[in-house]
Amino acid sequence: MIDTIQSLQRDAMADIQAAASLERLEELRVSLLGRKGRITELLKGLGAVDMAERKTVGAAINALKQDAADAIESRRAVLMDSSSVLARPLDVSLPGIAPLDGGLHPTIQMMYDLNDAFAALNFDVFEGPEISSELYEFDHMNFPPDHPARESMDTYWLASADRSGEDARGADRLCIRPHLTGGSVRYMQRHTPPFRFVYPGRVFRNETTDARHERAFFQYEALIVEKHLPFSAGQLLIRTVLSTVFGRPVRTRMRAGFFPFVEPGFEIDMECVICNGAGCKVCKQVGWIEVMPGGMPHPNVFRAGGIDHNAWMGFYVNVGLDRLVMMRYGIDDVRLFHSADLRFLSQFR
Ligand SMILES: [Zn+2]
Repeated sequence: MIDTIQSLQRDAMADIQAAASLERLEELRVSLLGRKGRITELLKGLGAVDMAERKTVGAAINALKQDAADAIESRRAVLMDSSSVLARPLDVSLPGIAPLDGGLHPTIQMMYDLNDAFAALNFDVFEGPEISSELYEFDHMNFPPDHPARESMDTYWLASADRSGEDARGADRLCIRPHLTGGSVRYMQRHTPPFRFVYPGRVFRNETTDARHERAFFQYEALIVEKHLPFSAGQLLIRTVLSTVFGRPVRTRMRAGFFPFVEPGFEIDMECVICNGAGCKVCKQVGWIEVMPGGMPHPNVFRAGGIDHNAWMGFYVNVGLDRLVMMRYGIDDVRLFHSADLRFLSQFR
């Protein structure tokens, strides 16, 4: 009798552990503990057992009954957990779980908006490689050979481009682009003027990061080349950029500025959008904020692009896109853009 009980215990426990569904578990419960279940039948047969053994056998059957009931309950808890959605009755009045939907990064969204605005004015949208070279980024851009921006303090040079034993100066050392303007020569070399294009992209500088500086950031460049380029064409570029970013016309002014690749060069200021020119902390009380450099391509830049500087005129602007997006949304730390912090990013969906 004890052997029978022990063998039933082994089988019952194995079956319960193997039960893969709540239905199967319920079948097992009925077959073991139901009115005609095997354990119930054993208890019913207790009267036929010898008086000498009855106490021991009865205790063993009761222990089996308790073990089987416990095992069924704990197996039920496991199955309920793993199929909780199906196991629970459906309550259609509960609020649903919203799927996590993505969105465009605010800088990328702004880039697309600008591309659309310029495409409507017949501009090409140009893309260049992030890995570039000293030839395109500095030599073609009319940077003097000893210009400090060439040094690793500002520019990330690629290790594979280190040609030891060779005079690296003048050889085409590779770097990740420190500005977009270098890539514009690639466009000039492949196209015959007149043309107009915009050129969005990420650039890299070896800088210490703080609230206003990142090692990787976005620029947005535009260049028009025409036979006779009225100065108002430059102002059209500036106005299109700023009114697209801020959603309204923004007043601007130009000051003389020096950059190797433009002659003449300008610093373009816009009226502070926070205080509308009255003076505030953001604009350091002057009412104007420096937003972009611009100017006419230097004859050496045109030469590198295969364009006759006596026959053609051009106008560049180069926008620090992250800065403008920060101003538009009142973001005070550029490092948030690369933080991948969903609490920050989800505000722009
Ligand atoms: Zn201000």
